[in-house]
Amino acid sequence: MQSQRRRKLLAANWKMHGDRAAVEAWCAELLPRAAALAGAPTSANTKLAMDVVLCPPAILIPYAVAAAADSPVAVGAQDVAATDNGAYTGQISARMLVAAGCDFVIVGHSERRAMQCEGDTQVARKAKIALAAGLNTIVCVGETAAQRDAGDAKNIVACQVGVTLDLAPKNAMAKLVFAYEPVWAIGGGVSATPTQAQAMHALIRGLIAKRDARAASACRIIYGGSMNAKNAAALLAEPDIDGGLLGGAGLVAADFYAVWQAAARA
Ligand code: PEP
Repeated sequence: MQSQRRRKLLAANWKMHGDRAAVEAWCAELLPRAAALAGAPTSANTKLAMDVVLCPPAILIPYAVAAAADSPVAVGAQDVAATDNGAYTGQISARMLVAAGCDFVIVGHSERRAMQCEGDTQVARKAKIALAAGLNTIVCVGETAAQRDAGDAKNIVACQVGVTLDLAPKNAMAKLVFAYEPVWAIGGGVSATPTQAQAMHALIRGLIAKRDARAASACRIIYGGSMNAKNAAALLAEPDIDGGLLGGAGLVAADFYAVWQAAARA
């Protein structure tokens, strides 16, 4: 289903990598190239046609906000608390992220689902609170290798998506993004094939459409899992793949820029 052209979205998830100098160096290397890309005659609408987001570790967000000020790069967080405020040691609320200058947040990354034991309901609560605070909210979904091998991939993803949709505020659907990230493709250098990814993206869009056809056609569904300069063009050529969530390739400005170029051409 692609009844309307959706604004692309590329996000770099730095996980627990980097420091202030790395954030500033990444921006210093990328932003002049980004300005050239935005101004190039073949891609004059790049700035308008795409959201590009840097998601550093939370403590580096202020440095990223300063380094990316007045540029096409927005800043996002990698997680958010599932509650507004209170006695939650170590947590950061959605409102705090907004106040710090974040426009985006990632929730439900598979590393958090696995290592922090975050379940679908907790992820959906985080998405709900982030959306209500006005954050563009990237909800990660995806099956493990064992789940795929058992033939359960679609059911797992459908459940993850369904619980998020149950709680998502209806008036904030424009800011809800799904990232299909097959766990077996993350970090290993081997991505899903464009056909595999497209099939799951179409499934996700179909699930949204069952509840709200307009929201489904507007919703951005991005792919994550070893996306890089070599495979980005083929993945992004698929009709329901609206961008990428990059781990390894997001850490290196030149690699991220190469994917950005591919997305601008797609
Ligand atoms: C990720 O962890 O979200 C991710 C997509 O990582 P990588 O690009 O390194 O596979």
